[in-house]
Amino acid sequence: MKIIGVDSAVYSVPLAVPVSDSTHGEMAFFELITVRIKDDQGCEGLGYTYTVGAGGLAIHCLIDRYLKPGLLGKDPGRVEEVWSWMWWKLHYAGRGGPASFAISAIDIALWDMAGKRTGEPLWRLLGGNNPRVKVYAGGIDLYFSLDALKEQTRRFLAQGYGAVKMKVGRPKLSEDVARVAAVRELVGPDIPLMVDVNMRWTAEQALRASRALAEFDIFWLEEPIIPDDLAGHIRIAKEGPLPIATGENMHTFYEFQNFITAGAVSFPEPDVSNCGGISVWMKVARLAEAHNLMVTSHGVHDLHVHTLAAVPNASYLEGHGFGLEKYITHPLRIEKGEAIAPDRPGHGVDLIWEKLEAHRTK
Ligand SMILES: [Mg+2]
Repeated sequence: MKIIGVDSAVYSVPLAVPVSDSTHGEMAFFELITVRIKDDQGCEGLGYTYTVGAGGLAIHCLIDRYLKPGLLGKDPGRVEEVWSWMWWKLHYAGRGGPASFAISAIDIALWDMAGKRTGEPLWRLLGGNNPRVKVYAGGIDLYFSLDALKEQTRRFLAQGYGAVKMKVGRPKLSEDVARVAAVRELVGPDIPLMVDVNMRWTAEQALRASRALAEFDIFWLEEPIIPDDLAGHIRIAKEGPLPIATGENMHTFYEFQNFITAGAVSFPEPDVSNCGGISVWMKVARLAEAHNLMVTSHGVHDLHVHTLAAVPNASYLEGHGFGLEKYITHPLRIEKGEAIAPDRPGHGVDLIWEKLEAHRTK
């Protein structure tokens, strides 16, 4: 079995409604970077990653110019070996950043091929715990008016989500408190409610805010501070009343290792599209399991429904705002608060290329 084709492309995918958070401001589109890998047995796998609007061309270049020549001829079934080769090929200019996004997209494509070769959906191939995964709606709504925020929350619940996340990190803490209070009142006491800071605060601000928000029964406090501040996370975890979720800005296995072993995170939140792929996501999940922690996910819900369905320590799947619903043949099924992992071979995501073509930038 040999890889005979590696084709990558970049798209600027418009969002139906502009969204907003504390570090990226308003976002009207996201970049989608795809890679299709073919082998000499007629099998083709799809991998993809995304950015919040910058870096997509660098990721494409890493795939097309630096990884593709060496990937051609390699055995796509030896995923770990290919992964190590990619890691060391890009290591000096890598160890995270765009290199991890490029490696992730290719790793996802290789796992998709593994599923297609065996006829198994990824969730079964990776462990097969339970295809029904609890799902929450990840609102990207920091600068929505209170009315728009409430309207969105009602829509999420009507769509079948069993939990809701909202952004915090507005200029005044009193604004965050008022908005969280309004959403908690709207959803009632039994719907889990998460809040996401997108790294806006210092540890001091995070502790003050988490004490102010604790009365609203917050399920987790997400990315209170930058991922580079391990000591700050340990402090917030030890001194504050809320469990911490973080990981969407951690792009290596070692970053998760440092946080999990230090007791700095309650809900590790790796993203297969930027942590190094499905291979690394699964290692983070197992490491979390060994520390008696539940693992969650960030972004690309059509892929994470498989990884979370594979493991016994699955927390919530994030239904992410950068959805591909309009561009895939089988959007994620959500029923009564749960997402259902599909039984199609591989990850089962088929992009509608003709629809994407209008947004192609490379
Ligand atoms: Mg987040």
